[in-house]
Amino acid sequence: MESIGRVLTYGIALLGAFAASLWLASIVWCYHDIRARTLDIYVRLFALLLVTLLPLLGVALYMVLRPRETLDEAYERSLGEEALLREIEQAEYCPTCGHRSHNDYLLCPNCQTQLRTTCPKCDRVNEFHWPVCPYCGNRHHAPSGEIDVHEH
Ligand SMILES: [Zn+2]
Ligand SMILES: [Zn+2]
Repeated sequence: MESIGRVLTYGIALLGAFAASLWLASIVWCYHDIRARTLDIYVRLFALLLVTLLPLLGVALYMVLRPRETLDEAYERSLGEEALLREIEQAEYCPTCGHRSHNDYLLCPNCQTQLRTTCPKCDRVNEFHWPVCPYCGNRHHAPSGEIDVHEH
């Protein structure tokens, strides 16, 4: 009987060690995973506490609750969205003929309507409605009936 008892104790100790190492591994994994997903220190702490205090169950909960994207993925997506937005912003159409134009065109390539002007001082493309050249600060359009822009 004594030998069976010893084997049992040994087995339980082994199982315990296995469970403990699994638990530690899950904490280490969680630490790396949450670091890649958020910069928020409180979210990181919460995730670690969850996994530490609730072995296994905490990991399952963490998998459900964690931010869906890693920071790298989110960054890449924002770059893609930005590029898309820029494209939409730059896609312009001539107000006269509807031909596709671009936000730095001076004239419509189709009907030659003047879309923009150039700064007389630095020669860069300016929008008609800009009261001042953003590149050199030259006030080239004297706005008719200047609008009062006093701060209230
Ligand atoms: Zn046109
Ligand atoms: Zn200028």
